Amino acid sequence: MSDLPRPEALFANIDYTPPKADWMDVPVDIKPGRYCYAANPESVKYLDLPNAHKWNPLDDDWGLPANWQEIIFNGLRERLHKYRSFKIFMDICVRCGACADKCHFFIGSGDPKNMPVLRAELLRSVYRGEFTTFGKIMGRFVGGRKLTPDVLKEWWYYFFQCSECRRCSVFCPYGIDTAEVTIIGRELLNLLGLNIDWIATPVANCYRTGNHLGIQPHALIDMIDFFCDDIEDITGIRPEPSFNKKGADILFVTPSGDVFADPGTYTCMGYLMLFEYLKREYGLDVTWSTYASEGGNFGFFTSHETMKRLNSKMYMEADRLGVKWILGGECGHMWRVVHQYMDTLNGPDFQAARMEVPSNPITGTVFKNAASTKMVHIAEFTADLIKHGKLNLDKKRNANIHLTWHDSCNTARGMGLLEEPRFVAKSVVEKFTDMPEGTIREQTFCCGGGAGLNAGENDELRMMGGLPRANAVKYVHEKHGVNMLGCVCAIDRAVLPNSMAYWVPEVSVCGLHELVANALVFPGEKERETDLRGEDLPGMEDE
Ligand code: SF4
Ligand code: SF4
Repeated sequence: MSDLPRPEALFANIDYTPPKADWMDVPVDIKPGRYCYAANPESVKYLDLPNAHKWNPLDDDWGLPANWQEIIFNGLRERLHKYRSFKIFMDICVRCGACADKCHFFIGSGDPKNMPVLRAELLRSVYRGEFTTFGKIMGRFVGGRKLTPDVLKEWWYYFFQCSECRRCSVFCPYGIDTAEVTIIGRELLNLLGLNIDWIATPVANCYRTGNHLGIQPHALIDMIDFFCDDIEDITGIRPEPSFNKKGADILFVTPSGDVFADPGTYTCMGYLMLFEYLKREYGLDVTWSTYASEGGNFGFFTSHETMKRLNSKMYMEADRLGVKWILGGECGHMWRVVHQYMDTLNGPDFQAARMEVPSNPITGTVFKNAASTKMVHIAEFTADLIKHGKLNLDKKRNANIHLTWHDSCNTARGMGLLEEPRFVAKSVVEKFTDMPEGTIREQTFCCGGGAGLNAGENDELRMMGGLPRANAVKYVHEKHGVNMLGCVCAIDRAVLPNSMAYWVPEVSVCGLHELVANALVFPGEKERETDLRGEDLPGMEDE
């Protein structure tokens, strides 16, 4: 983040004064720090996606095929026919402006084209100008325009400044979901090979090795083994996880970010400890897969087709292993895909149909909400265990933590997971304070790096987009002494540490199961002196 202005300067530069010219006359200005690098053509080729080529967003010539407009028009026509919601979103916006100030990227940048209404209008204006009779005849008078190379560049710049978080949709009286417009916009850009590399290469990796980071099966086992070493050092208990076990009751799938970087790694250690505890106490039979080693789905940020392709591997692996159901880790968009798209994408003959409706073998609770997906979020699972008194927890071990809760966009707005994480969190920490209403639950602010935007080169954009979230954290930090921001999403755990370091450096970031594992008391464990991060537990500072 070395080239970033200091937070005060970035904040002072936010200018909400609209330009004097009509928005159609304001040319796109692609600014370093606000865009992600172009997709590596090798990754695009690997995925068998069209028009893989080398290009640079700062060049005039993007190396487009000669018939690029025809490709876009055909793609747009096909999607207007296929997705009725998209067609409706193109037709019914009355430009009331209720969504205008709800986007974190607009709040943090002041750029009018980051208003959800205008972001969608970038595409809607072309739909009007090229596909409707009124628009073809009346053009600008009815908000229509032609598709030009500059318009295409504008699409690319602003559809990759939308984290598809859906906050704006909560405020639209017509239920227009601008994230869906962005999704279609990105699909159209992908027809021309215009993805960003932070998305294309992880998706290609996922094809090759089963996870976004390209971790091969033996390396995954090694990484988890390191975590088991650390857990043994801290607790005296060594987890013995199972991998690829045929006939196990439950398959566990989590984002690969959790095995790769802090603080996700502590969450991963938390899963390992929870499963070991449940195995020893109640005989829980859960297995990890070294092939379906990714819950996240960057295909979702590319196209419906790639989303479907990446999602299917979890279910194919569950089928291969013959498990009863899938337990999913702390991820965001994995859950949005599972809850909002998967059933429609796959239809009734999907592998999920062959599994059982999930039930907790320890408490007997049947997760009827997962009757079609056969997949349960670990926050629901752990909440159920705690509710039934199945975990021995000592909150005092987290006494140095004053927690606030970041509702991850995809789990909050995409699946309604609002109470379970709070219930678990309040069961394992002594001090918990929510951020102000209007910034949490369904109205939660995005971390600023979702939908594939957590690259390094777009730091300025991410810090701008992270401002509203950070501002609410700063409020509870200054007013109540909050020092930890919890979340159940791997992208959040990757994005928020940088955002906090920039805006509220006194606050750290953690996952839910890190806190659970710190509080979990194993029979026969040694006296713990540190938490999973190796920091002294309260009262152990002088030991
Ligand atoms: S709130 Fe809905 S109808 Fe109003 S401008 Fe935004 S998208 Fe259009
Ligand atoms: S989906 Fe989120 S990022 Fe995209 S326009 Fe709406 S509020 Fe902004």
